[in-house]
Amino acid sequence: MLKRVVIVGGGPAGLMAATQLLKSDCEILVLDQKASVGRKFLVAGDGGFNLTHSETPGEFREKYDSDWIKQAVRQFSNKDWIKFLKQIGIETKVGSSGKIFPEDTIKPIQVLNAWKQFLEPKVQFVLNTRFLDFDEKQLIVDKGISTPLGNPGETETIPFDYLVLALGGKSWPVTGSDGAWTSVFEQKGIALNPFQPSNSGLVLYENWLGDLEGKILKNIRVSCGDQSCSGDIVCTSYGLEGKPVYAINRALREMEKPVFKVDLKPQMTREKVFEVLKKAKNPSQGLKELKLGEVAVFWIKNFVSKQRFLDPKELAKAIKEFSIGIKGFRPIEEVISCAGGVADSELSESGELNRFPNVFVAGEMIDWDAPTGGYLIQGCVSSGYVSGKAIKLSIMN
Ligand SMILES: Cc1cc2nc3c(=O)[nH]c(=O)nc-3n(C[C@H](O)[C@H](O)[C@H](O)COP(=O)(O)OP(=O)(O)OC[C@H]3O[C@@H](n4cnc5c(N)ncnc54)[C@H](O)[C@@H]3O)c2cc1C
Repeated sequence: MLKRVVIVGGGPAGLMAATQLLKSDCEILVLDQKASVGRKFLVAGDGGFNLTHSETPGEFREKYDSDWIKQAVRQFSNKDWIKFLKQIGIETKVGSSGKIFPEDTIKPIQVLNAWKQFLEPKVQFVLNTRFLDFDEKQLIVDKGISTPLGNPGETETIPFDYLVLALGGKSWPVTGSDGAWTSVFEQKGIALNPFQPSNSGLVLYENWLGDLEGKILKNIRVSCGDQSCSGDIVCTSYGLEGKPVYAINRALREMEKPVFKVDLKPQMTREKVFEVLKKAKNPSQGLKELKLGEVAVFWIKNFVSKQRFLDPKELAKAIKEFSIGIKGFRPIEEVISCAGGVADSELSESGELNRFPNVFVAGEMIDWDAPTGGYLIQGCVSSGYVSGKAIKLSIMN
């Protein structure tokens, strides 16, 4: 009898799992609780659709924090993903920082539509259908949600031979990734690490905010633990946003009292900064000559002690290693991604649950983390690939 593969979650992870099964002898159902698939994929497209990165395999994998996701990315790399996109008619380009985007004329919805059209001859999309529970052989869904004529609470049982759960993390719940699945997993004793905001803006203490909203700290370098990143940071009403602060989220999360360092003048060595300050007629003039900008000057004047401010050596040190303590992260609902999720000790390399043979998990619902820059979508498609490939091999045997 024809095997049935049910994939729940129509994000990049679920769609890539389905893609791997197109040539297999099976029926494929992709279920989603929303009226259309790929909503977070499209949200990612709103801010510049960074699909992956052009780094070498070694450099690329170093961006991930877990061995589980690294091995998945080894099996389905940035090159494989770009090749697949080309196969469905999506040409890509390399941006100035090495990030990979669709060609300029291609809109995010066109990428999603091309992928859906590629799947449609074989895949049945079952929308407005909420996953509620599963066991080894079947899943329970609520068919009543979101449809005008629907009857909330009306459940249905769907038998499967293989199940892929690609239900996403917990950020941007409006896209369907609401993290409600965590209680189902907890009830089954599947170990989860709590979700935490990742690639999040930083909330600062009130006295750091001044009248700085909208101001930009240009070309600075931030570091925390073994993580560091250069670029621009934007001041907001609550704190800071921008790639450099997202890149140090993981190190900050691991600290009891999170503090990071900013090099406010990375273009100059500490000695050079010292020389400029020493020659200046006073410290304020020195800051001007260093062209530090309004935000840096506000912070230095408010948070460097008078004694250090008047000592060029100490002031140079403060400029190169400016310490900022944070109050916290933005609410998980607002951030780009989540750390936490299904612990990799629960999984085989293909994402099959140790406790539930033939049930796989994929994408952001697994506990791995990466910075923005295309690594998130890549991690999701790579994990979708490994689950789809394992099912394909199992069907063949
Ligand atoms: C603002 C923003 C910008 C981003 N920019 C980028 C970027 O430029 N580059 C990058 O690499 N990444 C980016 N990301 C991250 C990227 O979009 C996600 O990592 C990726 O979409 C996660 O894929 P996924 O398949 O694991 O889950 P998702 O895409 O979240 O899909 C999960 C699906 O499961 C469905 N679902 C959940 N629960 C249920 C249920 N109970 N029943 C039925 N269906 C359910 C949801 O409706 C959803 O369709 C961005 C994210 C955001 C929010």
